[in-house]
Amino acid sequence: MSFASLGLSAPILKALSQKGYQTPSPIQAQAIPVVLKGGDLLAAAQTGTGKTAGFTLPLLENLSKGQKAGPKQVRALVLTPTRELAAQIADNVTAYSKYLPLKSTVVFGGVSINPQISALARGVDILVATPGRLLDLYQQHALSFHGLEVLVLDEADRMLDMGFIHDIKRILKLLPPKRQNLLFSATFSEEIRTLAHGLLHNAAEVSV
Ligand code: AMP
Repeated sequence: MSFASLGLSAPILKALSQKGYQTPSPIQAQAIPVVLKGGDLLAAAQTGTGKTAGFTLPLLENLSKGQKAGPKQVRALVLTPTRELAAQIADNVTAYSKYLPLKSTVVFGGVSINPQISALARGVDILVATPGRLLDLYQQHALSFHGLEVLVLDEADRMLDMGFIHDIKRILKLLPPKRQNLLFSATFSEEIRTLAHGLLHNAAEVSV
């Protein structure tokens, strides 16, 4: 099994070899083909399994084939519970997209909002965000979800544990209905199942 055989192309393969990745992890081998095909995904995976690359790599591959983001547009939104996770995911996105003409940025609370408004103004292909700050930015008209193609809920169980369910529901109502949805969670409570049921359509399920 190689990253090339999963359907990732040269710019991404080059970035991966620079990171020293040789073979896909089990979650990557399962998730990448599903996401590349545009399908919804329900994934049971903990941190440390390589799940971030599992959704980021195929997202980048797909986004690199479409139209660029217009002003204030976001093509793929990755929601995550904490600023540390948001920053980590954004670092990965930056590394994996090094040889692709894609723009990404990260937004979270507890820091000044103005640089985030500026970073969103010309549009971004991938936005990594914590829910509260994302809603603040939306209310300030810093971004538009018109043109959103993909939603990723990362660490969904932690987002619910941290009380983000209302924010998530508010965000979901703002998104165009026709989109790809990926949900990652380490655990599967009743509440996660309900969220997944409302969010996903014909989702492939992968578990590691
Ligand atoms: P994650 O579970 O996404 O937080 O990833 C855990 C760690 O594994 C991160 O430091 C990644 O950079 C690294 N990693 C992810 N996929 C691979 C891979 N296929 N080969 C080697 N390292 C990887």
